[in-house]
Amino acid sequence: MSDGVYLLVVSPHPDDCEFGIAGTAARLAKEGKQVVYVICTNGDKGSDDRTMTPEKLAATREKEELAAAKILGVKETIFLRYPDQQLEDCNEFRMDLCRQIRQYKPYVVATTDPHRKYVWHRDHRICGLVTADAVYPYARNFPAYPQLIKEGLEPHSVREMWFWGSDDVNLKLDISDTIDLKFQALQCHKTQFNFNQQMRDRMLDFARMNAKGESFEYGESFHRVELRP
Ligand SMILES: [Zn+2]
Repeated sequence: MSDGVYLLVVSPHPDDCEFGIAGTAARLAKEGKQVVYVICTNGDKGSDDRTMTPEKLAATREKEELAAAKILGVKETIFLRYPDQQLEDCNEFRMDLCRQIRQYKPYVVATTDPHRKYVWHRDHRICGLVTADAVYPYARNFPAYPQLIKEGLEPHSVREMWFWGSDDVNLKLDISDTIDLKFQALQCHKTQFNFNQQMRDRMLDFARMNAKGESFEYGESFHRVELRP
């Protein structure tokens, strides 16, 4: 149990958090703020390699995520290990997320934007939706989960939500000093992609676009929602 967590990141698969928020996570960690990762699925369907087994892939992807988190200075990484492509908007998943929120008491919870239009991985949509519900009202509501109260997990009011992958950006954060760490963290996900020069250039363009109109060079962008205490 920790009282000092600033940012809790809820990622559908291992690697989504690196694309969405790794630069910001590294920057906050450098500033001495605590960051915790929660990875919802085991990612065991994230390969077209027919010689790879789901069990081996899931185990390898956990190692990749832990290596990435270490580079970024993430304090702790929790694996919920739901089956890949099977996230559902259900009570079990919502309570699992509430448990993490009540345990770590973050100021900010970040996740994928569930309201991104048209093409969006189903796990990303469900993850964003259920995380938003877990933050409000379930995590802050005493009667919501008697089971969590029995576990000693009191209600907690998250103050901000940041959604990455959003069509409706209202927050751009400077990652100019940590974009190299983000790239190093992305390089850990070797089962998912080859982080070559072409991908690096594409990510640089994306980070530049996410800083458009700001005073900094590279950014990550979000839809931010502020919540009352
Ligand atoms: Zn994903």
